[in-house]
Amino acid sequence: MADEVIMAYCVKEKAQKPMKDAKEVILKNGKHAMQGVCSSCGTKMMKFVSAKKTESVPPAA
Ligand SMILES: [Zn+2]
Repeated sequence: MADEVIMAYCVKEKAQKPMKDAKEVILKNGKHAMQGVCSSCGTKMMKFVSAKKTESVPPAA
């Protein structure tokens, strides 16, 4: 099992940083996201991912 580096936006550092302890979560609205902490400063971060590449969902307001 390869350790995949997931880049996500760190709101604290205002930059893309590697996500640590990333795990996939499914939100109430059925969307998939990766949740983890910033490997640089430890801030919680989340990144939306698409479970199916073919599925294009317009962003909800
Ligand atoms: Zn950070």
